[in-house]
Amino acid sequence: MNRKELIKKYLQFFKEKNHAIIPSASLIPSNDPTVLFTTAGMHPLVPYLLGMKHPLGKRIADVQKCIRTGDIEDVGDTYHHTFFEMLGNWSLGDYFKKEAIEMSFEFLAKVLKIPKERLAVSVFAGNKDAPKDTESAKIWQSLGVPKERIAYLGKEDNWWGPAGNIGPCGPDTEMFYWKLNNKPAPKNFNPKDKNWVEIWNDVLMQYIKDEKGNYNEARQKNIDTGMGVERTVTVLNGLEDDYLSDSFKPIMEVIEKLSNKKYPKNEKERLAIKLKHDNYESYEKEVIIPMRIIADHIKASVMILSEKIVPGNTEQGYVLRRLLRRAIRYGKLLGMKNFTPRVAEPVFKIYDDYKELKENRKEILKNLEEEENRFNETLERGINLFNKISKDKKEISGKDMFLLFQSYGFPLELTQELAKENKIKINEKEFRKEFQKHQELSRTASQGRFKSGLADNSEKTTRLHTATHLLNEALRKVLGNEVKQRGSNITPERLRFDFSFNRKLTDEEVRNVENFVNKKISLGLEVKKEEMPLEKAISSGAQSEFGSKYPPKVSVYTIKDSKEKHGWFSKEICTGPHVQNTKEIGKFKILKEESSSAGVRRIKASVE
Ligand code: ATP
Ligand code: MG
Repeated sequence: MNRKELIKKYLQFFKEKNHAIIPSASLIPSNDPTVLFTTAGMHPLVPYLLGMKHPLGKRIADVQKCIRTGDIEDVGDTYHHTFFEMLGNWSLGDYFKKEAIEMSFEFLAKVLKIPKERLAVSVFAGNKDAPKDTESAKIWQSLGVPKERIAYLGKEDNWWGPAGNIGPCGPDTEMFYWKLNNKPAPKNFNPKDKNWVEIWNDVLMQYIKDEKGNYNEARQKNIDTGMGVERTVTVLNGLEDDYLSDSFKPIMEVIEKLSNKKYPKNEKERLAIKLKHDNYESYEKEVIIPMRIIADHIKASVMILSEKIVPGNTEQGYVLRRLLRRAIRYGKLLGMKNFTPRVAEPVFKIYDDYKELKENRKEILKNLEEEENRFNETLERGINLFNKISKDKKEISGKDMFLLFQSYGFPLELTQELAKENKIKINEKEFRKEFQKHQELSRTASQGRFKSGLADNSEKTTRLHTATHLLNEALRKVLGNEVKQRGSNITPERLRFDFSFNRKLTDEEVRNVENFVNKKISLGLEVKKEEMPLEKAISSGAQSEFGSKYPPKVSVYTIKDSKEKHGWFSKEICTGPHVQNTKEIGKFKILKEESSSAGVRRIKASVE
């Protein structure tokens, strides 16, 4: 079974069980400023887990691109990756524990044909907030999972949420696969034994945590599951290492060629290495693990670049830069030169089902090459400087670390790694102080530059905010109700609006949308702001943003229009600011309509 077959089988299975299949959302959360990347399949579905109605119903399934920066430290083992794909199925207040567990088991046993002997599960052990989840354990037992293969684990392992301080949460139940081929699975499941690989997690959102910290039984109970594609394909093929599965193998082959070093594919090859290098452990540390890191980081970089993020010193761009520079340094240690575009090549082939890779191929390769060149120019000088400042010293000062960062493009993590390798301490606190000082300086500089136009700008952005709401509704009127907002961004010059729609708009459609907005502006409609609980806002028909998290109390902006069905034209949960009457907006003009990512279009517009 390969990656594509697993994905196909999973989606087919859940489609037959009446789930609507939705496309992967972007790796960049469109309106959640709290995280840089989409970390799980449930992430873009949070508003629906909170009670908002999903347009496609109560049963959803998908395969979602994920990036977990929190796992970068673990990369180098056989099953944690920065970028991975997560399969998932959701029940939004529809089926619960029994059906969810039964479906998971049916998929594992009947579709993937995993023998019971190789399966184990964990369930929640219970604590002061919620009881032991004997219900789930009983369901597993009824399906034939023996008692000895069910582990009861605490909150740190088998509990999810809430996402913020309050909201949906509950126990989960995880499924493990015994990965060794030369040793049968032990009768008793010991979750600490690393040969049991976690492949799937069913979160059972049974409770709502309230402001007082109480856990109340939820009115809408949800199911949220996540299955890792790479891990599952690996174990299904009797492999013990994700890097040998089809999600990585072609990349490893290029790295082997360019470094002229062997990545062992089986016991025989491992043995051969052991015979050749008397210390296998150091070969693992100096060759095998760096090879995995290079493959992982370049793949993740390609995926981030495909979302039109470029290397930089802040936010997603900084993560991208860190990943790339770390890969480049390890590549150098393996004797590779100018290699990032070549290692990236197989990524396009493995993931040829992602349109954004195909469409941005040239740009992605160009960015890799440029970043590698940029880093090469300073890497050696930086390492020389590092050696000089650390010579005969036990600690590197924050000022020197900042110099490495600022003048030689060393991400903090690189200095940390070099220091660790050379057993030298670093002063991270002082580095952060330097960093902040620098940021403040550049902030005051840019504030000075914009001061004169500030008042004017903020009035303009207010007009653009309200224009965005009109545009959102106008798109639905012209193109149909399936159009959903997927993100927006406003600068004093223009608004940018992303929405789900899977083809280019015709010129006529663009004109119609523009005219529609201008018509509503000219009617001089009143814009009203109200505060209310999130649930009430959603049940009153207010639009919310795909992928956003909301506080329990929200502001709702209504653009009134007595000629429309409910007496209003647009109603949205939003933090504002907005004009009081649409007449204040001025003339609305669409500047551009283009593709943003798979199934998402982007409009840029201005007001005059
Ligand atoms: P682990 O404890 O192994 O790190 P997790 O508890 O963080 O896993 P979940 O958040 O439950 O994992 O994610 C659901 C599934 O996604 C996991 O069962 C696993 O198959 C997969 N997964 C999670 N993190 C990674 C990763 N970094 N690389 C590859 N697959 C992953
Ligand atoms: Mg984890």
